[in-house]
Amino acid sequence: MTVSSHFSSHDLEFIDDDEFHEECGVVGVWTAQDAASLTALGLHALQHRGQEASGIVTYDGNNFHSHRGLGLVGEVFADPRVISALPGGVAIGHNRYATTGETQIRNVQPLYGDFEFGGFAVAHNGNLTNAQLLKQSLVRRGCLFQSSTDSEVFIHLIAISLYTNVIDRFIDALKQVQGAYSLVALSKDMLIAARDPLGVRPLILGKLPNGQEENSWVVASESCALSSMGADFVRDIEPGEVIIIDNNGVRSIHPFSGHTSSRFCIFEYVYFARPDSVIDNKSVYMARKKIGAELAKECHVDADVVVPVPDSGVPAAIGYAAASNIPFELGIIRSHYIGRTFIEPTDQIRHLGVKLKHATNRAVIEGKRVVLIDDSIVRGTTSKKIVEMVRAAGATEVHLRIASPPTKHSCFYGIDTPAQEKLLAYIHDTNEMCKLIGADSLGFVSSDGLYRALDEEKRDNQNPQYCDACFTGEYPISLTDHDMNLIKSK
Ligand code: SF4
Repeated sequence: MTVSSHFSSHDLEFIDDDEFHEECGVVGVWTAQDAASLTALGLHALQHRGQEASGIVTYDGNNFHSHRGLGLVGEVFADPRVISALPGGVAIGHNRYATTGETQIRNVQPLYGDFEFGGFAVAHNGNLTNAQLLKQSLVRRGCLFQSSTDSEVFIHLIAISLYTNVIDRFIDALKQVQGAYSLVALSKDMLIAARDPLGVRPLILGKLPNGQEENSWVVASESCALSSMGADFVRDIEPGEVIIIDNNGVRSIHPFSGHTSSRFCIFEYVYFARPDSVIDNKSVYMARKKIGAELAKECHVDADVVVPVPDSGVPAAIGYAAASNIPFELGIIRSHYIGRTFIEPTDQIRHLGVKLKHATNRAVIEGKRVVLIDDSIVRGTTSKKIVEMVRAAGATEVHLRIASPPTKHSCFYGIDTPAQEKLLAYIHDTNEMCKLIGADSLGFVSSDGLYRALDEEKRDNQNPQYCDACFTGEYPISLTDHDMNLIKSK
């Protein structure tokens, strides 16, 4: 889909952060020397999935130990005394992204509870769509919630379960929740990993090689964590699968009957996952290049140079450049040293965010017709600023190409998105968006083009192969809290 515009740009609101945010990354280790250090290394590799807070829980055979803090993994675990105070051969860890105001230490995971069967810690990536309804009923039954995260319902559902053993209680809890979850949990006897029946969020199993104990396993949100942890990839954990790792090894159970097809989040391939990760046997990097090639086929424009909006637009731009025979150049340079300044809470700082983050490389832009490649448009504020910057650097034309279909719907499965009314593609058609952003033309890859890049013939409209609800509005899991008005829009 491509449109052109020769209108001048209009004002857009520049007050809010303009990116999708993955909400969490999880790691588990069973059993290894320095389990806490290994977990911290895994969390560091998953930093892109959450930058606001981090935590690790370990078990040393007698006691559980925990450290949770606000900030990047390298900040939370910077002091070697913190890791030293986390002894034990088994551990789970969590990175969290949270919107400003909700980043409180009580919300930082892993969550921990003392049960009649002993201690139990849980770390969750995803979002439950009936958490508020469950919470209302749990509070009525006397459960006292310590945090405002949806993940805490797991702790209470496990606590009140009438089953006696840990696994049955855990599965009892899973059967009551709706939504997306990739979980790691730790009891004194086992590490448990679980994916929701549709496998919306990723989760993989890895093995620690020689040098560690024979029965040494890791679980992580993405395979990119494995190289940091010195572990080998074993396999993706399947949708609806529960894996139990204990002193007898690894076993797998499938407690959900009737759920067979996966609805993995297609946006993990577009943007969220790290490009060196492999998900469901597909390299994220190669998938992004193929999306770029599809985009070039569908939205060709005569131009002199293809420029990615770094970092997430880079692989798609390489694919676009190769497929269109237009040279690829790094016309925008991203600073990696601004920390989290751009999401500081004042409007003024947010306004400065894009300029702090990106600078133009005039040498490859001046006098050129530029094709700019980005992964998505959320509110459009970033796109408008970047188009302005590229023009100011001397581009004669700026054509914006987006490596995903228009984002018209909010995500309720673990990605922080603005309310639908704030999504540019919900409010405006492509022609209007182009005009507001100030580009000479704007094009999005089609839904079928995106599916082709993922080795599908096209989107199967009867049984879509992925969750693509933020493009299509077809939500594969009930939005119970939303439909009952139990959650507030952002
Ligand atoms: S709604 Fe979009 S971002 Fe959310 S899980 Fe589905 S595809 Fe992913």
